[in-house]
Amino acid sequence: LIPALRVKNLRFYYGSQKALEGISMDIYRNQITAIIGPSGCGKSTFIKALNRIGELEGKVRVEGTVTFFGQNIYGRRVNPNRLRRHIGMVFQKPNPFARSIYDNVAYGVRLMGRRSKAQLDEIVESALRSAALWDEVKDKLHQSAYGLSGGQQQRLCIARALAVKPKVLLMDEPCSALDPIATMRIEELLQTLRQELTIVIVTHNMQQASRISDYTAFFSTDESRIGQLVEFGLTPK
Ligand code: ADP
Ligand code: ADP
Repeated sequence: LIPALRVKNLRFYYGSQKALEGISMDIYRNQITAIIGPSGCGKSTFIKALNRIGELEGKVRVEGTVTFFGQNIYGRRVNPNRLRRHIGMVFQKPNPFARSIYDNVAYGVRLMGRRSKAQLDEIVESALRSAALWDEVKDKLHQSAYGLSGGQQQRLCIARALAVKPKVLLMDEPCSALDPIATMRIEELLQTLRQELTIVIVTHNMQQASRISDYTAFFSTDESRIGQLVEFGLTPK
């Protein structure tokens, strides 16, 4: 097992409020790691610290290290925007842009530099196929993303994240706004995606963690121990 991310003594503060209290764990390559625990225990803060998106939330302080294939992402030479291309994220509520399906998927790729129309078309199709959405949208790529169902919008957000070829995909309760069928489709999709990348998924649902993940990190269930990792290991099946 090769660690994609090594977390060492990670602490995270919102102002004076502590949200992570010295988390240490490895996130293994091509494995699905579930982060589980009750509401408010720091799950979301934890995964947002893994691609430095958490520091966009205002006055925060981060201590400890997160090593991504050997480099500390909190090191001075790291460009957080570039980092977020390698470590993508999908949120709880599907959040496509008010643009066409095509433009949503092409967004990050366009930021990275000029591509020919043919190259971009190919990247968009490939990302939509990887997100198991291509067949449903191929005839309406230029329609608004808002015309899609919630489950389709979430797969679109996955396609948007995949289009820039990340090594790690962080998912913050990606199914909790979806119905059971849409949830099942995403759970199935993750089993395909894990062959090519590393997935970290926050869930508050132990059944889901058990169905989909290889490793599970249990965060504290005790109010007085917010932001503590209680146990980490192979997912109980
Ligand atoms: P979870 O994802 O497990 O529900 P969070 O990571 O969202 O937990 O929250 C962990 C702790 O940090 C909670 O006490 C929460 O109130 C606090 N918190 C989360 N986001 C912020 C924020 N933007 N500003 C201040 N406190 C926050
Ligand atoms: P890497 O060497 O990590 O693969 P590149 O050199 O290919 O990165 O990056 C190409 C350019 O795109 C760089 O100038 C980089 O800063 C920029 N870039 C990467 N990701 C983003 C992003 N999400 N938003 C804006 N610019 C980005």
